[in-house]
Amino acid sequence: MKKVKKKKLSKVGRIFVKLCIILLILILIPTGIHIYKSSNLKKLNYDKEAISNILEKKVYSEVLDIGENKTINAVVKDKEFDKDLLEKYAKITYVDQDHLTSNINQLLDKGYNTSEISLILSHATTEVIDAFVKKEYIENISNYLKFDYAKTRYIDRYIEYYRTTRESYENVVTFVNIGLDQEYYTDTKINDKYSTDMLINKYNGVSENFEPDHLTKIPNEYCKDETEDQYLSEEALTAFEEMAEAAKAEGYTILANSAYRSYQDQEEVYQTYYDLYGENYVKKYAARPGYSEHQTGLSLDVASANSNIFEESKEFTWMFENAYKYGFVLRFPKGKENITGFQYEAWHYRYVGKDIATYMYENDLTFDEYYARFIDTEK
Ligand code: ZN
Repeated sequence: MKKVKKKKLSKVGRIFVKLCIILLILILIPTGIHIYKSSNLKKLNYDKEAISNILEKKVYSEVLDIGENKTINAVVKDKEFDKDLLEKYAKITYVDQDHLTSNINQLLDKGYNTSEISLILSHATTEVIDAFVKKEYIENISNYLKFDYAKTRYIDRYIEYYRTTRESYENVVTFVNIGLDQEYYTDTKINDKYSTDMLINKYNGVSENFEPDHLTKIPNEYCKDETEDQYLSEEALTAFEEMAEAAKAEGYTILANSAYRSYQDQEEVYQTYYDLYGENYVKKYAARPGYSEHQTGLSLDVASANSNIFEESKEFTWMFENAYKYGFVLRFPKGKENITGFQYEAWHYRYVGKDIATYMYENDLTFDEYYARFIDTEK
């Protein structure tokens, strides 16, 4: 058996191999650590850019302690990122806004705490925040902004309305959102998108050409004046018929007195009342053309077959207690004149659908309040 003789390396060769191994270790260890740290951060849903910033800014272990955090993921990429504020950033709820880091820094600097900052940010757009950070510190801002529907851009109006009315904070925010701190027909908005939850009041109208979807003639048997054609949107009519039939089964006759009115019809109504009773009367009772719910095909004035004063009829009581089950609400209730902007109208009902109607009925809310709290999501 032949033995293969290994060739021994020269001394220089051996040194070279050792150097190579040391060099390899020097490269491999940091790379390994880097891969290890990156994968830990990746597991916490930090993105690539955030990970490289976290490692570069040497806040790896702090971020690891904090865990998954969308705010950190965003602010760590900015040049305004301040390592000393890391814990505070982590407590602020993330919002997708420009200048997030510098705005947070400025708000912290003004003295707002992290929960206040979360509220300020979440109720505002980038533009609103950019303007807000230039304002003086506002004490107890959470009193207003703790409501989901609060808007940071209205903060001065909330404060002023609270100062002058001493309403509850909930009402202050709701009423200012409706626009009640300003004269009627101020800052009016025109929205021609038909929907059963569209809002028409003294701040929200439709244009002259607006027409509801699927206007449908109310069958004569449901009309107070059988010689006059009345119309409702299809959805409202279906619900009205269902309601009228349910009432009939219990011995009540609910009739439609005045339903859909075009812009021109409303112009006529408004002018007639104006000529007869003057400006003060129309202000309370008649809507300006374009600001009448009757133009939406979702509203109607109801009547009873036997009584000329609806409020004194048994149908009035039945409607008051049952209309919500069919999606209708009394639009201008007694005691809510300051919110609706209209005198109490026992006969004017609005279709909003069963869910909204039920909530409004159970919580004693007008549609203006409901809209301000649950439908108007604009920041
Ligand atoms: Zn009416």
